[in-house]
This record gives sequence, structure tokens and C-alpha cells, in this order.
Amino acid sequence: MSDNRYYFNKDDLRRRRPDGNGDPDPEPTPQPAEPEATAPDDTQDQGPQSPASVVFMQMMRQRASEQDEAPTDEATQPETVELQTPQKFATEEERARAAALEAQRLKRVQRRQEKRRRQTVSTMAGLVRSVIVVLVSAALIATILAWFIRPESLDLEVRAQLAQVAATPVPVVQPTAIPTPNYLRRIGIVSGHFGNTPDNYLAEVDPGAICPDGLTENEINLAVSQRVVVQLRDAGYTVDLLEEWDERLDNYEADLLLSLHSNDCTDYGELVSGFLVSQAQSRPTGGPDERLVNCMALRYAETTGLGQRFGLTRDMTDYHIFREISPTTPGAILEMGFMKDDRDILTNSPDLLADAIVEGITCFLDPSAALPIPPVEPSPMPGVQDVDPNAPTPTWAPAGATS
Ligand SMILES: [Zn+2]
Repeated sequence: MSDNRYYFNKDDLRRRRPDGNGDPDPEPTPQPAEPEATAPDDTQDQGPQSPASVVFMQMMRQRASEQDEAPTDEATQPETVELQTPQKFATEEERARAAALEAQRLKRVQRRQEKRRRQTVSTMAGLVRSVIVVLVSAALIATILAWFIRPESLDLEVRAQLAQVAATPVPVVQPTAIPTPNYLRRIGIVSGHFGNTPDNYLAEVDPGAICPDGLTENEINLAVSQRVVVQLRDAGYTVDLLEEWDERLDNYEADLLLSLHSNDCTDYGELVSGFLVSQAQSRPTGGPDERLVNCMALRYAETTGLGQRFGLTRDMTDYHIFREISPTTPGAILEMGFMKDDRDILTNSPDLLADAIVEGITCFLDPSAALPIPPVEPSPMPGVQDVDPNAPTPTWAPAGATS
């Protein structure tokens, strides 16, 4: 060992002073410190440089003497370290041991403070982390339990409360357009010229038009009307089969009324074929009456193959039944064909005619049925004068007197 182990290293000293100011230090008293007297704990982080350890031992000695005079709190101890002239010790060995002990104590205090600071920070972070973990776990467990929980496993009180919640009425959107069931639909089918005639009339039974061989309009109309009624009743509708002068027609209320007739058996000297269909002239155009007429014309033409004629007579547009039924009941009259030239289909295919008529009625009752308006082409009927809406009202003849 040379003399430089007493060398005073200022940087070393400054590093050990917490305030770090570079105040001039008093001249250290050279002490023949024995290296073996220094505690191993004290020297292990200082390396092999003995001058630093000597300086440190001096500091420790000062601190020990200070404590003898005025003991202070451990935590504030590092702030008050000052280099002072070492106090008297009995022997050199005693002094060295005291310094080593003091150095150990100081290091312990510093370590404890650092540890405490780290603990505080990590405790706060741990607390926050724990709260988050608990909340997330609770949400997960509750969700998983809710999947598998069975109502039977809950106690009665909880179940009663849940039932109360479940029974709380929730507004349910109901479809606004519920189709009227067929049995609530009333349909009136008039079989033309069928039934007894009024008391003031010539014949007790009105045959309608008559062919030379005795074929009557009445029997043609009735055969078709009965089939129409059967088909509509099979479809669930409420159907009335009505006579020409039926008392029920007075202010008759229904979803629709249809009167079935056949055109006369006159020989016009040329082919006269086709059907005619009309609403009451008194009813507004564009209303349900017109829709009924359009439905009937379209479906009847499609199904029977007969052409539509437009030479409407006053017997049709001012038909007596149109004036009897309720103003709210849509009404139409259908001349199913001419008894001379359409005789075959009128007499041999009543089922086909009935099918065509039921098709037209179904078309009218189905509000979603989009319907093209059939083109109106004038087709003057031979021997029959067309109705002029602007012409003065002629004297009306009873419907039973015509076909
Ligand atoms: Zn008739």
C-alpha cells in the first residue's frame, strides 16, 4: 500500500453527499485505517480503490458522533451528513467498527426508503389492475351463467319478480291490413227473371227471352247462377241466391251484387255474339262499381273466350235492382251471351260460365288485384239503340218485360 490511499478524492466525496454541492471540504485527518477492519458489505460496491473507502469511513465516523449528540430520525439522516472532525474513540479498532456499522445502517435506510417508494407505486398500479380484472371477470361470469341458468334453479321470489317483468306489456306492431275472412263477405247473385213476378205483372212466372224452340232465358240464367252460388259458398263466402223481384233486394247490403241475364234469341240476319256488363249509370265512375264491371269483363272474356260488346241498353244502365239495393253495395248486371248465336256455350257449358263469373268476383274482392282498364270500343248492337248519357230520360219499361 502506498501513500495514495489517503488521497482525498473530491468527486468520490461529492457522489456520497446527497446535496451534491461541491463545497470545499475540510482537510481529512489521515487515519491509518486497517482494510481488514472494514465491513465487507461496506466495500464491495466501492471496488478496490482504498482512498474512497477511507473517505467514506470518515464520513461514517462523523455521523456516528453527530448521533451521539442529537439523535434524529432515520429517514432524514442522509440529509444531515456533514464532514466533521472525528470524535474520540478508545481505540482505532473500535472507531473502525463503529464506522462500518454506521455505513451498513445508512445503506439499509436508503434501501428501505427506495423499497417503500417502489412499493407505493406498485401498490397503486396493482389496485387499479385488480379493479379492472374483477369487473371484467364479473361480466364474463354473469354472461356465461345467464346462458346456462334454468328458471327452475331460481328461488320463488326471484322467479316472481322475473315473471312480473316478463308480464309487462310491450307494444307489438300489428299488421294494419288484415284480409277479411271469406265468411264475412256477403255476395248477392240475382238469377235473372227467376221467381215470382209482382202482383201487377202479366205473367205469374217470367221466362225472360224465349227462343222459337221454347228455350227460355230463365232456365239458362238459373243453371249458371246456381253453379256460381255453389262455387262461392265452397270458397267460404256468404252468398244469397236472389230472385228478380226478391224482397231482400230492398236496401240490400253486401260486398257486391251481380245480376245474371242472357240476351234475346232474335235473328238479326248476321252473327251477333258476345257479352255485355254494366254498372248503374247513377253510380260514379272510378268507384267500386266500375272496378266490379272491369274485373268481370276481363275475367269473363279470358275464361269464356266471348268478346265484350258495349252497346248498353237502358235496361242495363238503369236496371231496376240498381235502384233497390243499398247505395253502398257495388252492383253490376251481366248479359252472358246471345241466346241465338251463343246458344252452345250458354246451354252446354254452364260450369265454364260459372267459373268465369267466380273469377271476376274474386278479382273484385281481392284488393291487391291490379287490373288494366279494358279499352272501350263502340260496338253498336243491331236493333238496339245505344245509350246516350246526355239524351233525355226515356220512359222506363219494367226489367221483366225485356231480356
Ligand atoms: Zn234478362
